[in-house]
Amino acid sequence: MHREDGLGLSPRKVEYLKYIHELGGVAKTNRIAGRFGVDPSTVTKAVDELARCGLLVHEPYRGVTFSDEGRRCAEFLVKRHRILGLVLSRFGLSGEEACSEASRFESFVSRAAVDRICRAMGHPSQGICGEITHESCRQAGGDAGREGP
Ligand SMILES: [Zn+2]
Ligand SMILES: [Zn+2]
Repeated sequence: MHREDGLGLSPRKVEYLKYIHELGGVAKTNRIAGRFGVDPSTVTKAVDELARCGLLVHEPYRGVTFSDEGRRCAEFLVKRHRILGLVLSRFGLSGEEACSEASRFESFVSRAAVDRICRAMGHPSQGICGEITHESCRQAGGDAGREGP
C-alpha cells in the first residue's frame, strides 16, 4: 500500500527511484551503483524487489525503466523531497543542508502530510533543487472543490 500513502519504501530505494527519475526514467544498474558507491549486486537486488512490486521494469540490455505506476511514484518522491527541503530552508538551513537533511527523513513522511504542507505553503512551484508539480495535491482528498467559505 506504499503507493497510496507514500510510505513503505526504504530510504535507499527512495534514493534510487529519485535518481532514475533524474536520469530521465532509464538507468543502468552499474550507473546507480556508481552514484551511491555501492556494489552493483546490491542495486540489482533492490531493483528486482522494486520490479516485483510493479514499480520498475528491468530489461537485460536497456537497464531499468519505470512502469506507469513507478513513474507516478517517483514523481511523488521527488515532490516530497522538494517540499520538505523547502520547509527546512524556510527555517534557516542552506539549500545544500536542506536537501541532505530532507533525504534523511523524507521516506517516513506520508503523502497526505506532504499534500497538506504543499497546500499550506500555497503550492510553491520552485523547490531548492528543481520544480515542484501539483497534480496529486490538487486532486487528492477532493479538497480542491472544498475551498472557500
Ligand atoms: Zn534536493
Ligand atoms: Zn501543491
